[in-house]
Amino acid sequence: AEKLDLNLIRKDFPILDQQVNGSPLVYFDNAATTQKPQVVIDALNRYYTQDNANIHRGLHTLAERATTGYELTRTKLKDFLHAPSTDQIIFTSGTTAGINLVAQTYGRANFTAGDVILVSNLEHHSNIVPWQMIAQETGAEVQVIPVDELGVLDMVAYQSLLTDRVKLVAVNHVSNAIGTINPIKQMIDWAHRVGAKVLIDGAQSVAHFDIDVQALDLDFFVFSAHKLFGPTGVGVLYGKRELLETMPPYQGGGEMIKEVSFSGTTYNELPYKFEAGTPNIADVYAFGFALDYLASLPQNAVWEQEKALLDYATEQLSQIDGLRIVGQAHEKIAVVSFVIDGVHPQDIGVLLDKFGVAIRTGHHCAQPLMARYDLVGTCRASFAFYNTKEEIDLFVKALKRCLMMLS
Ligand code: PMP
Repeated sequence: AEKLDLNLIRKDFPILDQQVNGSPLVYFDNAATTQKPQVVIDALNRYYTQDNANIHRGLHTLAERATTGYELTRTKLKDFLHAPSTDQIIFTSGTTAGINLVAQTYGRANFTAGDVILVSNLEHHSNIVPWQMIAQETGAEVQVIPVDELGVLDMVAYQSLLTDRVKLVAVNHVSNAIGTINPIKQMIDWAHRVGAKVLIDGAQSVAHFDIDVQALDLDFFVFSAHKLFGPTGVGVLYGKRELLETMPPYQGGGEMIKEVSFSGTTYNELPYKFEAGTPNIADVYAFGFALDYLASLPQNAVWEQEKALLDYATEQLSQIDGLRIVGQAHEKIAVVSFVIDGVHPQDIGVLLDKFGVAIRTGHHCAQPLMARYDLVGTCRASFAFYNTKEEIDLFVKALKRCLMMLS
């Protein structure tokens, strides 16, 4: 099978080649945000150097170029998600913004007292709080799919929670805190049987899987470009046409209207109805180059590399006395969340940085999950295909030194 040439790949990500606190950088915080290939950085630079203008309205050449660049990314996303049309690809500022949009428009229009919004115990706060907010306003109720000791959703409980009161199921595809991959196809099918719609938070899955919104029969799918080797400040909301069309707009302003007068305003068509104001043109444009970059890589080799990193890190870390891996689902992405007896995760994070190693510590915006395991937080190392086994060796060696310093 084809293997990635990591020496070549790492050259595409200039940020990786640096010293931090006197040691080579080991960047294991990819679940928080991924690094950007040179083609994305170049696209941003090129846009501001040559093409910058506001989009859609202008008739001049730069406006035309900016509009074409922005809309080209929408077309690339249609292909990336296997979506039926570009109208169903809505640009937001991120996963959080996409979930809030659905909560505030679909939720406000459709939820009433007694309805249930079903989330899981694995969710990021951004897939909990917007539902609590709209539940409070509408009288709907948020219920929770429990998670077992290994970090796997309890599908028996899910089935019994799925009553005809459930209007929406909102779950992540992959847990950012512990890496569990949820069986979303099955979850969507079951939800549809009771007439519930499903929103999938794909923030942690888009970098690892091929997503086919039609094969999955997804109602809503949201993610952030910055977790997919693209810029910050860009997100995507995909929705089924019949849902998006009946949803009222989220924000009012320029671009989202057809005609405005003081006697009444008519709204623009999809997707513009949901894109009020000047969007993040430069970053949307540059994001398209991240998608191209990914498409140029041999997908199987990427998966193999991530799996090799996960297996190797799990094996190496398991040999450390007192270390416990939190989240041991059979189906997980290349994320290792762990705690060590008698050591605060934060102390490990701070000390590892002295050795140039970047991991994340804390609750990972998933406090209800931490509460489930009676933890305040974990240490989380999250890998991308550009990481290497040698970096895992550096990380494990640094971790052992930290533990000696702390004991
Ligand atoms: N959901 C999950 C599963 C995430 O990992 C994240 C980012 N940590 C978010 C939602 C929120 O994404 P953003 O901050 O880009 O809006």
